[in-house]
Amino acid sequence: MDDSQILEALSRHFGHASFRRPQGDVVKSILSGRDTLAIMPTGGGKSLCYQLPAMLLDGITIVVSPLIALMKDQVDALCAKGIDAAMLNSSQSWAEQSEVLARLSRGGLKLAYVAPERFRAQSFTRALRGAKISLFAVDEAHCISQWGHDFRPDYMRLGEALESLGRPTCAAFTATATPDVREDILRQLCMREPSVFVSGFARKNLSFNVREVSGKAEKFARVCAIADKYKTGIVYCATRKSAEELSKKLWGEGVRHIVYHGAMTPAERDAAQEAFMGGCEQIAVATNAFGMGIDRPDIRFVCHYELTGSVEALYQEAGRAGRDGAESYCEMLLMYADKRVQEFFIEGANPSADFIEAVYRAVRDNCDNANECAMPIDALAEETADIMRFGGGRRRARGGKFARLSGANAMAVSSALGILRRLGYVERFDIPSRRARGTRLLDPDLPPSRLDLPESLLAEKRRRDEAKLRDVLRYAYSKQCRQKWILEYFGEDCPEPCGKCDVCMLSSAPAERQPPLSPDEILEVRKALSGVARMSHRAGARQWLPRFGRDKIVKCLAGSRDAKITSSGLDSLSTYGILKGHGAKFCSELFSSLVDFGLVSITDGEYPLAAITDFGVSVMLGEVSELRIAYPREISKLKKVPALQAKKSAKKSPREKPETDVPDFAAPLYAELSALRSQIAAKAHIPVYRVFTNAVLRGLAVRRPADAESAMEISGIGKINSKKYLNRFLDLVRNFTIRNETEGKI
Ligand SMILES: [Zn+2]
Repeated sequence: MDDSQILEALSRHFGHASFRRPQGDVVKSILSGRDTLAIMPTGGGKSLCYQLPAMLLDGITIVVSPLIALMKDQVDALCAKGIDAAMLNSSQSWAEQSEVLARLSRGGLKLAYVAPERFRAQSFTRALRGAKISLFAVDEAHCISQWGHDFRPDYMRLGEALESLGRPTCAAFTATATPDVREDILRQLCMREPSVFVSGFARKNLSFNVREVSGKAEKFARVCAIADKYKTGIVYCATRKSAEELSKKLWGEGVRHIVYHGAMTPAERDAAQEAFMGGCEQIAVATNAFGMGIDRPDIRFVCHYELTGSVEALYQEAGRAGRDGAESYCEMLLMYADKRVQEFFIEGANPSADFIEAVYRAVRDNCDNANECAMPIDALAEETADIMRFGGGRRRARGGKFARLSGANAMAVSSALGILRRLGYVERFDIPSRRARGTRLLDPDLPPSRLDLPESLLAEKRRRDEAKLRDVLRYAYSKQCRQKWILEYFGEDCPEPCGKCDVCMLSSAPAERQPPLSPDEILEVRKALSGVARMSHRAGARQWLPRFGRDKIVKCLAGSRDAKITSSGLDSLSTYGILKGHGAKFCSELFSSLVDFGLVSITDGEYPLAAITDFGVSVMLGEVSELRIAYPREISKLKKVPALQAKKSAKKSPREKPETDVPDFAAPLYAELSALRSQIAAKAHIPVYRVFTNAVLRGLAVRRPADAESAMEISGIGKINSKKYLNRFLDLVRNFTIRNETEGKI
């Protein structure tokens, strides 16, 4: 069939003159008899991709679709176009169903929409036996995957159904498949050399940004600034508690908004949603419970107050901005410590087999005569914890190993009940009087030890959840265009940089982008690298092996008093606090830059560790004179030494370099400071370091602080010695600078 015939049919049946990308390619792939998987966003015109082939192929197209409402809309629309389409589902009367079945076996239909559960009905498979099926289309195909969020067992049996129909061409469609879900769809449907299309996910009117923040105060300031600038939008919080805290602060500043989270009553939630959707309120502070039906077109910003658990969630929630096509702004606030919140969620969503068994035992122990347990989740959580502690779990029963106790919280109990329900061991029911749910055993005689729990599947799901969180961190710390990164993550080929995210904006000023670092900046980089090396295993003269992760290393560089550092004695390392004067944010950004520019590498795996690379070793050892890497911007402001002058001083440094590590340009001043120190020490009969250490002199020589306040940023200047000696050193610095500037002018 040639292109003109396809376009003619497109125009005749659907009234379109042309395809939207990638519709045409998908249609041609299906018509050529190839199995096809198309991943297109909602609203991207998926249904046309199987409806048009249905019209061009002889025989019937079976469309498997999960939602009755969706089916009905599509069938109505097709019938209105004069196309022979019908649906079969449980909402229809017996007579209606019989009529459709009769048309099906007569071959009087072009398209038949069915729910996946339908393949369990013999009347249906019998009717299909007489029909010619030319195409088997699966909509919302992510439901097939055991990793998809709407796990439906009947979807997983579609592979068999396909075989029983004589294996017609198979086409699957979804809007949300990540690479692993995609693999799963291809496998479950046993697709043969399929064509895979991923397209249309770019949101050209959205600017994606990540802002690293040092604490809650900075977060709050960002939210206020964004809300003030963009007016209408959503701030997504990871937890109810965080949403409530933020709301309180916003009211303190007089910023109007609504709050929305899962612990509010349905009436409260409805009222809040309506106020926002109806345009009475412009700002929503919400958890991810705020999602269904949020299609207000003029949302101008979406801010993520904490890290999300996956890139998919981030993109979906941020994608609520700019539905009207107007420019809109998305920002995720990045604080590494927020990772803990998501780890807690992963823990709660992935109970171990032991834990699930203990929950089952707790339910069973607390059932009434009708095999129903009405215990609230919190009480069940306590019972479960007791069972885990005092035995009865499967590990103990099998090998006597004690089960892990952690995670015995309400969330894990809910997850465990959900898993037991999906496996057919229990049923959940409403207890209207208590606004709560109870649990009913479906096989009361089954002892807990006989539960058949898919342990490897559970472990695999946990591993995937952890990997998703790591992907969010990779995204956040990446120095690649945000939109491009996300589109590549979803599998689109060669997306273009967006030109409007924070990374693109930074690199759009190429002159400013990566100028060579000044000598004092290089010194700070070398200090950071020595900190990384110090926290590695030394494996040779120029080789270090990774030992710690990013978090601990950055904390040590910044001199953090975090218990993780102090309790393990890391604060006694010589490099502890080596960049203290710059603050935690600087250290974190500098570390990212070291990774981005190949001075430090990060290992793969569950607990990524950092190690200095060969290039990093060269820089650390001072073998590299010019270095072009991104340097955290804040510090540039502090620089007191103009580059020109630095160069001049460096040229004329005939004197011997002091034994300590001082960049060339600072050496002359260092020598004078050192002389002054010796003078003072001799007079007072004390060792020189009691006046100031070499590190302090180095700091003074490199930074040339103008006053005592900025001098105090140099680590190692204590209150006592600053009072006694600092002014004389500052005088020297001032005189030296004036002298040099005068010389420079001549
Ligand atoms: Zn970009």
